[in-house]
Amino acid sequence: MPGIYIHIPFCLQKCSYCDFYSVKSTDAAIQRYLLDLKKEILLYQDESEWRELKFQTIYFGGGTPSILDPVQLFEIIQLIIKNFQIESNAEITLEVNPETVNAEKLHNFYQIGINRLNLGIQSFDKNELRILNRIHSVSKAIESIELARIAGFTNLGLDFIFGIPGQRLADWRKNLNLAVSFRPEHLSIYGLTIEPRTLLAKKVASGELIPSPEELERQMFLETIHFLRENGYEHYEISNYARPGFRSQHNQIYWREEPYLGLGASAHSFNPPVRYWNVANLNGYHESLMQNQFPRKGTEILTPEQQKIEWIFLGLRRREGLDFMAFNQRFNCDFFTEYRTPLKQLGINNFTGQKIESEYLVIENEYIKLTETGFLVYDEICAKFV
Ligand code: SF4
Repeated sequence: MPGIYIHIPFCLQKCSYCDFYSVKSTDAAIQRYLLDLKKEILLYQDESEWRELKFQTIYFGGGTPSILDPVQLFEIIQLIIKNFQIESNAEITLEVNPETVNAEKLHNFYQIGINRLNLGIQSFDKNELRILNRIHSVSKAIESIELARIAGFTNLGLDFIFGIPGQRLADWRKNLNLAVSFRPEHLSIYGLTIEPRTLLAKKVASGELIPSPEELERQMFLETIHFLRENGYEHYEISNYARPGFRSQHNQIYWREEPYLGLGASAHSFNPPVRYWNVANLNGYHESLMQNQFPRKGTEILTPEQQKIEWIFLGLRRREGLDFMAFNQRFNCDFFTEYRTPLKQLGINNFTGQKIESEYLVIENEYIKLTETGFLVYDEICAKFV
């Protein structure tokens, strides 16, 4: 099922760990950007490869798309509905920064047809929020969850980060406990990565902050899986957990290699085997659209070898794993012959059709999946298949 992603690259302030494309918001910049976005949507009027698809999801990400007011979002949604085929029960998600919403705004988001919110909470601890340079307070984060429920949202996702400098296992447990007390339908939980050229990287380099020890991060990750499982959440992707029936439909499109159309500055699109991406610069984006041209920065046609690797990487992220029968059919090959060496290195010498398990992999019912230990070294495992 295909999906549409719309990038809104404005933020109130830069978080210390963030290396996404985002800029400080001003009313004039937002107005111009929304006009450009509408132009980009209209350019697709003649693109039959996208017009013929029936889209199951619309996802507003960023940046901070909840900076927009409901009328602005409504106009974009209506234009998309007019120009593409959208399923009547489509999942329409908005990423929300707690600082940007109040009761009225959340009520109006619900009224314009947004049916899923993803709230960037990141932590319920004020010191941790300060280290992350998040703009919102703990009380604002809690208020936004409560107000979202009052507004009518029955599909709420919360985002968290563990492994924040100075965070102890007990601190992380407190975050988890409070998170599940709100019974969110979905949780996205990421280990903090220190990306180059971020404020966080600078503070680590100067010795002001000390990164969390690897062993502690491993404990936090395993604790998260076990605690959330006990509380009724399926761990369905390496960083994602959902109550039954509430997996993110949109994110599953990415992990299943299904087509998605990305709109807005820096957005990526994929219609197998072609991937292309928009210019990550507001002026460049504007100039292309002023000339009625797609604001594309690059295009790549994936070779069969690249497609195989993507299948493996994305399949191993999912708890259900990689469907090797589908892989064999799609690429007209035998997975076990082709990847005999990495499988051996990962403790799988011979697959006879019966369930087989090593420290890192489980092979069962046509699926190859990672064990919990395997998830801890996901990057290293993927590297073996390249
Ligand atoms: S709100 Fe999100 S996109 Fe904006 S700076 Fe923070 S992490 Fe980055």
